[in-house]
Amino acid sequence: AEEEATFAEETGVSDRLRQDLPHSARMYDYYLGGKTNYAVDRTAAEDVIRRFPSIRTVAQINRAFVHRSARFLARERGILQFIDIGTGIPTQPNLHEVVQREVPQARIVYADNDPIVLVYADNLLSSSPQGATEYVEADVTDPQKLLAAVEAAGCLDFTQPVGLSLNAVLHFVTDAMDAYGVVRTLVDRLAPGSYLAISHCTPDFDPGAWAAITDIYTEGGTPLQVRSKAEVERFFEGLELVEPGVEVAHRWRPEAGEGPTLVTDAQSSLYAGVARKA
Ligand code: SAH
Repeated sequence: AEEEATFAEETGVSDRLRQDLPHSARMYDYYLGGKTNYAVDRTAAEDVIRRFPSIRTVAQINRAFVHRSARFLARERGILQFIDIGTGIPTQPNLHEVVQREVPQARIVYADNDPIVLVYADNLLSSSPQGATEYVEADVTDPQKLLAAVEAAGCLDFTQPVGLSLNAVLHFVTDAMDAYGVVRTLVDRLAPGSYLAISHCTPDFDPGAWAAITDIYTEGGTPLQVRSKAEVERFFEGLELVEPGVEVAHRWRPEAGEGPTLVTDAQSSLYAGVARKA
């Protein structure tokens, strides 16, 4: 924590860390058992846990999908470059570590709008020598500006396919923030043969709990909009979903030893899908 304070002061980030309000990245870090969170985050996270004890399982299921989907794209679909939006506080293994284990020359650009992620971005820049990683601080709700920042990072070739991941971030982009338009703008910029991976919390199996969770986040200053299966499928409109389509995340191409599997759909409450741009 001392190290963090020094870095934050040096980079001028400390003023923007907002320890008076809970932050989604730090609450998620708490669910995962991380230490990069403040009292205000733990209080809000404990409220969620009281209302929905399996939220920690949701976070683990989500992390496992991040790993499986990235590995699938690198290993089975030959994707060599990735944009990961809503990266979160670095968590071992990070996406580039999973991907570069398959393909050492892979290139990854990370993007998040939370200054806490910037503080720890060094952990995202530990690329293999053959590949490259970059971090950009950008808000997905301004996709043109985000794309310009990713292009300026200079790490990717936009004439070649890209794996775009939007994991556990679109439920923070409400319809009022034009969530579908945001995804359309991002996908439009990608070359044919690119892929879109999404995970997204859903109220489908336990609407009461998710109404309460939505209130906790929204009252904490982070609007949350969980979506039904059809609403999540709509993000993939015009793309070719790979098998099994949009599915609860723990049943999306499950692999032994990769995340919780013996859970109910209600305990998971997370949809996941991957689709190809023709
Ligand atoms: N993708 C990671 C982390 C998910 S936590 C994973 O699936 O494990 C959600 C992340 O989205 C947080 O780090 C939060 O800061 C980020 N986020 C939320 N709203 C955002 C926005 N408008 N623009 C960019 N990032 C955002």
